[in-house]
Amino acid sequence: MDLQISGKTAVVSGSTAGIGFAIACELAREGVRVVINGRRQDSVDAALARLRSLVGGAAVSGVAADLSDAAGCQRLFDACPQADILVNNLGIFDPSPFASIPDSEWQRFFDTNVMSGVRLARHYLSAMKAARWGRVVFISSESGINTPGEMVHYGMTKSAQLAVSRGLAQSCAGTGVTVNAVLPGPTRSEGVADFFGKLAAESGIGLDAMERRFFAEGRPSSIIKRMIGPAEVAALVAYVCSARAAATTGAALRVDGGIVSTIC
Ligand code: NAD
Repeated sequence: MDLQISGKTAVVSGSTAGIGFAIACELAREGVRVVINGRRQDSVDAALARLRSLVGGAAVSGVAADLSDAAGCQRLFDACPQADILVNNLGIFDPSPFASIPDSEWQRFFDTNVMSGVRLARHYLSAMKAARWGRVVFISSESGINTPGEMVHYGMTKSAQLAVSRGLAQSCAGTGVTVNAVLPGPTRSEGVADFFGKLAAESGIGLDAMERRFFAEGRPSSIIKRMIGPAEVAALVAYVCSARAAATTGAALRVDGGIVSTIC
């Protein structure tokens, strides 16, 4: 399927690794000029080299900026003032008992996972509306619906993204700009693989056994009973960013392996 977005410009936040990197690759394969982002110049440079080796002829550039605050977002805007496609992928997670999450962590999660997307959308939307074409995608999570007891603060940010995404879509009525949220389930990104590796080592079991235990005890409603690949999430995101998805807006689209058991 030709997604009809060749030549468009996309910004993907937090994309030197994991789901964001997979989205950047998928969009680059479609001929999109992709701007990737991470906090450090060395990780941005390494990701650019990896992306160019995976996607021949990719038109990619990178901006090193910590998007958890306004100054970092401004660095991105200075380097890349306009975009046709914005993927708010940046997100951090950290399982912690509710009683031991201090105010500062609640604030850090909100700033990183919610305000980064708010600031980026606020900046990039006006030119999209003027061009009467644009795509904004928030990478939320099944945790935005099934708030996890082991990281309530993370779940809060993922629910907040759903509210922001839906409200923004309504604010773009009739403009040709679509705004959607994509909700992945447990996905084997670098961040999650590291976390599972640590848990497996602490429990004295292998990684495969750890993942089987996670689906048996932590996410028993998963229908696919396995981790999702970043490329599986990226395929849906690329479609949502495409010209073909012009009638899909204000939606919360799941790529969660069936974990959320409600029909809609
Ligand atoms: P990851 O930890 O593997 O990668 C995160 C990326 O963000 C890296 O490129 C890192 O350098 C960058 N980053 C981190 N902090 C940053 C900051 N302050 N400024 C700029 N860049 C920063 O993440 P992932 O697992 O691929 O998750 C990506 C998104 O998908 C997140 O929003 C996450 O909540 C969501 N999600 C992930 C899963 C999962 O199981 N992996 C499930 C559901 C939703």
